[in-house]
Amino acid sequence: MRLSVIGCGYLGAVHAAAMASIGHDVVGIDVDVRKIDALAKGEAPFFEPGLPEILAEGIASGRLTFTTDMSAARGAKVHFIGVGTPQQKDGYGADLTYVNAAVDALLPHLSAGDIVAGKSTVPVGTAASLTPRIQETGATLVWNPEFLREGYAVQDTIDPDRLVVGVGSSTDSDPVSVLREVYAPAVAKGTPFIVTDLATAELVKVAANAFLATKISFINAMAEIAEVTGADVTQLADAIGHDVRIGRRFLGAGIGFGGGCLPKDIRAFSARAEELGRGESVAFLREVDEINLRRRDRAVQLVVDALGGQVFQKKVTVLGAAFKPYSDDIRDSPALDVAVRLHGLGAQVTVTDPEAIDNARRVHPQLTYVADRDEAIRDADALVLVTEWDEYRRELAPAHASTLTAGRVIVDGRNGLDPAAWRAEGWTYLGMGRP
Ligand code: NAD
Repeated sequence: MRLSVIGCGYLGAVHAAAMASIGHDVVGIDVDVRKIDALAKGEAPFFEPGLPEILAEGIASGRLTFTTDMSAARGAKVHFIGVGTPQQKDGYGADLTYVNAAVDALLPHLSAGDIVAGKSTVPVGTAASLTPRIQETGATLVWNPEFLREGYAVQDTIDPDRLVVGVGSSTDSDPVSVLREVYAPAVAKGTPFIVTDLATAELVKVAANAFLATKISFINAMAEIAEVTGADVTQLADAIGHDVRIGRRFLGAGIGFGGGCLPKDIRAFSARAEELGRGESVAFLREVDEINLRRRDRAVQLVVDALGGQVFQKKVTVLGAAFKPYSDDIRDSPALDVAVRLHGLGAQVTVTDPEAIDNARRVHPQLTYVADRDEAIRDADALVLVTEWDEYRRELAPAHASTLTAGRVIVDGRNGLDPAAWRAEGWTYLGMGRP
């Protein structure tokens, strides 16, 4: 099938390449010339495992092209909208400028019978408000939220754990059959395919992210209680996680969540609920956000305390900049936030990360970046693990670290290290919510 994908960021570039890899003819369209130039050459503009391979394959097959020219969308049966919906600069709500601009630019190229499938995460009600403009062209709008996880985006796009398609009430075409055809390999595998109305589809996405954020902040709240009682939150998480109704996943206490989705999605959900007169229904999300942000303070405080009450001119190496491993995404990264705060307190901060240094340097040029892990920790007074890359969590042996650093302090912002192993080597090990 001929498809267009409008917006070629973390979501759209992967979607375009993944759709080509399952046999569709895809054009990816974006307003960012540099991104499109890179993609057209088969270069992934960001780090995502598996993306370079499917990009190269799609381009070589002739089924995958990229352009900044919106008219290239003409003739596609389905047009996916995957542009950004960031937090507004002056509020909690989602900024829909890019969604509106993308739809406006697409309208002249739509034909009767086309399907526009929104994938961006939007406030509930957005699809209904876009519908009249799209219907005038004879095209149909559906909402098909995306649940991919960065780091696993290729796999999640080709083989998702569920597909959700929201359709409007006055739809005469059969967009659901067309979407089933788009996702034929997943459908054939029996992947749950849930058809809803537009509002439900929009809400499914934000509800899922609100739940995940709440789960993380729940365990981080328990970490705060553990810290004043001497309890160990990791044991607590193991113990409650054995209950299948609770489950152990997303119960890792640490410096909390970040990235381009969870923080802005829960804020946008709160803002939208307020507009709908139901602010109280999700008032807890404010608390979820606050618990999350407090954990960054806690990590910074642990470093300060361990270094004798102040970090001025102390050498602190921050292990990680990306908001999570297997990604170079630094949007709202708790890792980078901890680094910036320590720098603000006068520490000489060195940041290392296997993939995210270029992105981090663009946003925070004031920090020192060293790509090589061992060079980065050389002569450090303290180490702070903030992104659980294997290089730091599994492969950094305390005995080896001892040969390089000046001090023996490690703050484990992800509770990913073995405290006994570090202490046995003479280190002061400080975790989150652990004695
Ligand atoms: P992103 O910032 O990486 O990409 C957005 C892209 O849209 C950019 O390349 C930008 O240049 C492009 N764009 C902006 N205006 C445009 C226009 N008028 N026409 C064409 N292109 C335009 O963002 P992202 O992470 O890919 O997220 C996109 C959407 O998907 C957001 O709503 C996000 O919440 C949602 N989402 C993201 C993920 C994720 O893991 N990144 C997962 C699920 C859902």
